[in-house]
Amino acid sequence: MVVVMSPEATEEDIARVVSRVEGVGGKAFVSTGVERAIIGLVGDLESFHHLNLRALGGVADVHRISDPYKLVSRQHHPQRSTVWVGPPEHQVPIGPDSFTFIAGPCAVETSEQTMAAARMAQSAGATLLRGGAYKPRTSPYAFQGLGEDGLKILSSVRAATGMPIVTEVVDARDVDVVAAHADMLQIGTRNMANFGLLQAVGTAGKPVLLKRGMTATIEEWLMAAEYIAQRGNLDIVLCERGIRTFEPSTRNTLDISAVPVVQATSHLPVIVDPSHAAGRKDLVVPLTRAAIGVGADGVIVDVHPNPETALCDGPQALVGSELRELAQAVRRMPPVVNRVDSSTRIRRA
Ligand code: PEP
Ligand code: MN
Repeated sequence: MVVVMSPEATEEDIARVVSRVEGVGGKAFVSTGVERAIIGLVGDLESFHHLNLRALGGVADVHRISDPYKLVSRQHHPQRSTVWVGPPEHQVPIGPDSFTFIAGPCAVETSEQTMAAARMAQSAGATLLRGGAYKPRTSPYAFQGLGEDGLKILSSVRAATGMPIVTEVVDARDVDVVAAHADMLQIGTRNMANFGLLQAVGTAGKPVLLKRGMTATIEEWLMAAEYIAQRGNLDIVLCERGIRTFEPSTRNTLDISAVPVVQATSHLPVIVDPSHAAGRKDLVVPLTRAAIGVGADGVIVDVHPNPETALCDGPQALVGSELRELAQAVRRMPPVVNRVDSSTRIRRA
């Protein structure tokens, strides 16, 4: 941390900062320039925060130079992590050595529709099944999901296909019931900063897929992950799903650079959701290629057996030739990315 003194700061002001810092066991190094002094602090960042240095006389500014997140940072865990999803007898990796293809319907509508979507996803090579039973819709009049009945459908589809399930939880009160059915708990963009919910999934005993808030900076996103990690759950996968910009031709703007930016600073795996980023099925394949190229650890895409009748996000759901094209993009991973399809690394106890 660096404390910048104002040009008017007196010797006493500087001495006060130094003595406060030393009072909590830190060290303070003063450099006096022509105009002003700056003070470099070494020690426990947390204890410096409590000093409220910004409020002291003569202090112009305080800059942090290390990351505010700890457990999810590469400073604490230099190797990139792999998160394993599924029961011990069938665990799918999400991490730096593989590329994980997750697919399924936006929403669980019926047992037949979910099973058909799962079969489509599986035959295209997907190793995890997505599908929402609790849908966080913009309109209160839109289909809100089947709730617990939807979870039961997902469980029966998992039993039939063997695909582990990723599904969203939108309310801390539902975490236990969702965790009883799901292999991975999804936190959606609208709940990224719902800190009570983050803490609840932190103790649910299941891996978490944490989507980026549509207006969140990367630092805010990583701080949200820190809330989960702080409760003892480090099985967190981040998902870039597009952010709000001024550009209306896509639903959101996929911030593809977030992938390498996050990978440089956090050890957590990062996947991309091209379906919710674009909101258009014609962009899902090109954006998946971009995700592969930039070094993402996987993608999560919407598929539907009959997109025209979908109760949620039909325009972005893949079917038929687009899905085959996507499957090819994943199967023919360019050697330059140095990854294998996650289906070749499934762990069986
Ligand atoms: C979803 O994946 O179904 C979803 C609602 O995504 P997001 O939270 O990214 O909008
Ligand atoms: Mn959706």
